[in-house]
Formats: sequence, structure tokens, C-alpha cells
Amino acid sequence: MSLTIMRRVKFCAGHRLYGHGGKCEHFHGHNYVADFFVQGNEQDSVGRVFDFSVLKKRVKGWLDENWDHSFLISHEDSNARQALEMVKPSRFFVLPYNPTAENMAKYLLEEACPIVLKDTGATAVRVRIWETDESYAEASLDSPASLASDALVADFAGS
Ligand SMILES: [Zn+2]
Repeated sequence: MSLTIMRRVKFCAGHRLYGHGGKCEHFHGHNYVADFFVQGNEQDSVGRVFDFSVLKKRVKGWLDENWDHSFLISHEDSNARQALEMVKPSRFFVLPYNPTAENMAKYLLEEACPIVLKDTGATAVRVRIWETDESYAEASLDSPASLASDALVADFAGS
């Protein structure tokens, strides 16, 4: 048996899919929704797996600081980076891969969550990124115990 809680955080960001070849290779943005699914080691004396307000503070804090009202680009997309560096003030975030919903979920699960949940005893086991009302991508750990696991799956639902 495992107990999981989820906190939803909304943010706005721009991106483009480098080398995509379709309309997504143009600069555009989304009102994203990120769902963070978290498990704790055990329930506390109150009966909680993890405090929702702490979860919100940590994950929303990271998003506010890094992705909200920012532009997400691939590290390979030097053309977009040059353009963004010309804009003052400019705010962008370079990802090690294309900023698809799948990769954004993966980055939050693998890179951001271990940092923001460090020393809390809680583990993010799944992150879902809604790019529209109809479609989301999800990254999840097969084994919640193993943060360093390569067993990461990305599912894409919707169109
Ligand atoms: Zn898009």
C-alpha cells in the first residue's frame, strides 16, 4: 500500500520545439498546469503523508523562480538563445533537451523535485504537465525508493 498526495501548480511559459518542423517551432506560450504526486516515508501524527502547504511552497517556489513567465529553450537552440539575449529584460531557462511537455515533466521529476524536496522525507513519484485542457504528459518513477532510477517513463495522453 502506498499513500500519495498531489498538488497542482499553474504557471505561464513560452517555448518552441527546436527542429520540430511544424507550428510548434515558432515562439509561442502556454498556460501550463503541473501536477506533483508525492509520497512520504510514513504518515505523521496528524495522519498526513506530507504537508500540502509545504509541498505547495516548495514546488511553486521553484516554478516561480525558474519557469513562470520565462522562456524554455533547448540547449541546442542557439538561435532562440541569441534572440532572447537581445531582449532586455529577458528571462529564459535552458533545458538539456527540447521543452516538450514530456521533457518538462521529466525535468521537474528528475532535477527539480529532488532539490526542492531534499531533507523532507518526501519523494515526487510522478509529475504531470498539462499543456492544454485536453492533453498532458507524465513522467513517473517506477520505484519510488530510487530517485536515481533510470526507470523513467514518459506517457503522452491526448492529441
Ligand atoms: Zn507549445
